[in-house]
Amino acid sequence: MNTNQFQRAVTRILTTLWVLMLSIPLMAKASGQITDTINGSKKQPNFIIIFADDLGYGDLSSYGHPTIRTPYLDQMATEGQKWTNFYVGASVCTPSRAALMTGRLPLRSGTSGATAKVFFPDSANGLPDAEITLAEQLKQAGYATGMVGKWHLGHKKEYLPTTQGFDYYFGIPYSNDMDITRKLTSFEDYWALWTKEYDNLTPADFNVPLLRGMEQLERPADQNTLTARYTAEAIKWIKENKESPFFMYLAHNLPHVPLFASEEFKGTSKRGLYGDVVEEIDHGIGQIMDMLKEEGLSENTIVFFTSDNGPWLQTKISGGSAGLLRDGKGSTWEGGFREPGIFWGPGTIVPKMVMDMGTTMDIFTTFSKLAGIPIPDDRVMDGMDLSPVLLGQGDSPRNEVFYYSGRDLFAMRVGPYKAHFITQEAYVFNAEKVRHDPPLLFNIEEDPSERFNIAEKHPEVIAEIQKAMQIHGKKMKPGPDLLEERGPEHIVEKY
Ligand code: MG
Repeated sequence: MNTNQFQRAVTRILTTLWVLMLSIPLMAKASGQITDTINGSKKQPNFIIIFADDLGYGDLSSYGHPTIRTPYLDQMATEGQKWTNFYVGASVCTPSRAALMTGRLPLRSGTSGATAKVFFPDSANGLPDAEITLAEQLKQAGYATGMVGKWHLGHKKEYLPTTQGFDYYFGIPYSNDMDITRKLTSFEDYWALWTKEYDNLTPADFNVPLLRGMEQLERPADQNTLTARYTAEAIKWIKENKESPFFMYLAHNLPHVPLFASEEFKGTSKRGLYGDVVEEIDHGIGQIMDMLKEEGLSENTIVFFTSDNGPWLQTKISGGSAGLLRDGKGSTWEGGFREPGIFWGPGTIVPKMVMDMGTTMDIFTTFSKLAGIPIPDDRVMDGMDLSPVLLGQGDSPRNEVFYYSGRDLFAMRVGPYKAHFITQEAYVFNAEKVRHDPPLLFNIEEDPSERFNIAEKHPEVIAEIQKAMQIHGKKMKPGPDLLEERGPEHIVEKY
C-alpha cells in the first residue's frame, strides 16, 4: 500500500465511523428487518431482477443519454440507488448470465468460453446441474421462482430454467439473432445483416422458439411484441405468486440486435429504433412499478436493474452506447464490463448515488443475506455482500474486479487502478491477443475513459495488482471448457 492509498484507507475508516454514528436509528430499523427475515417472518423481501441485453452504460437518460427517455428507470435511480461502478462477470451473454445466476466467475462453472463463442442453438452443453443457481438458493427458503425472457445457459431440455430452480419459464431460450433463416455464405454476409440491412429484418428472419416451460408456443417468435409480452407475463406471474416471497428474473432479449419494437413505440424516439426499444423496456418497468404499488408489494420488494454486457458497437447504429467508457461488448475495457446498476425498494433501499464497486456476482450473496439464507460453503463463491450499502449501513466490501475474456484473465482492477495485461480487439475475426509488459495502467476514477496510461509513473501499483492476481490465480480452479464442445452434428432441439 502506498502513502496515497494509506491516506485513503484512513479517510475511509473515519468516514465510515462518522456515518455509523449518524445512522444508528436507521440501522436499528434495518437490522430489525434482517432479523425478522432470518426468523422467517413474512418480512422476507421479494426480489425482481430485470436484465437488459447489450444495453450500454450510456443508454439511460439517468446515465447521460441525451436522446433516450427512460423516466421509470430514472425514477428508480432517484428513489433508490444508482451505482456508477457496477460490473458484470463477462462482456458477452452466456458467461455474464452464468455469473449472475451462480455468484461465481464463469470460468469456475465452465461457461467462460472464448470471447466470440456463446451457446448456439446447437450447443451440446449448458450450465452444469452441480451449480447452485440463485433460483435454487431462494427456493430452499420458500420462495416462488419465475423467469421470463432470455436464458442462454443451455437450450436443450435438460438445461432449461425449469431444471435450474425456476418454477416457471416463458421466453426465448437463447439470443434473438440466432436460427437465422437467410442463407449466409460468409462472415461478411453475417455482418451485413447488422450493419447494412437491419432496417429490413423481420421476425421471420430468425427462427427462434418462444417457450412456456418446455413447450413451444411459437416459432419464429413474433419479436415485434416480445418486450410487451415479457412485461405482461412477469406482471401476471407476480400477481399469482404474491402470497409467498417471490423471485422474478425478467431477462429481456432486447436491445440485442435484431431490434424490434411494438407499433406503439416504433418511430417515437429521437434515437431511432434502438431508442424505441429501450423506451419500451422502460415503459414496461413503469408498469411493473405501478403493479407493485397497487398490490401493496413495493415496500417489501427489491427491484434490481442492469444489463448483461456493454453495447455491441460493431452493429453501428443498431448498437448502444457505453457513454464515456471505452469500447463495448466483447472487450475488457470498461465499456464491455461496466453497466448501469439500479436498486429500487422504497421500504428497504436507502436512496443514494453509489460510487462503490459492485458486480452481478454479488447479487447472489446479497439477496441470500437479505433473505436469511446461508451462502454455500462447499465451493468458491466470488460474490460479496452489498447489503450494508443497500441498507445505508456501510461501504461495499468490494475492492477488486476481474476482467476475464474466455479463460484468460486480461485485466484487473484494484481500488481506483486498473491494469491490462492482455487486450484484444472484439468481434474481429482471428484478432490477435496483445500482451502488455509492463501492463497498461489507468486510474479509472480520474480517467474513466482509460485514455492515459500511467504505468511508467506507478510501478508500485502494478506490483500490488500483480500480487493480488497471483493470490487469485492460486485459488482459481477452472471448470471444463463447456463452450468448446459442440454437438457431434447440428443438433436443433425440438420442443
Ligand atoms: Mg448480451
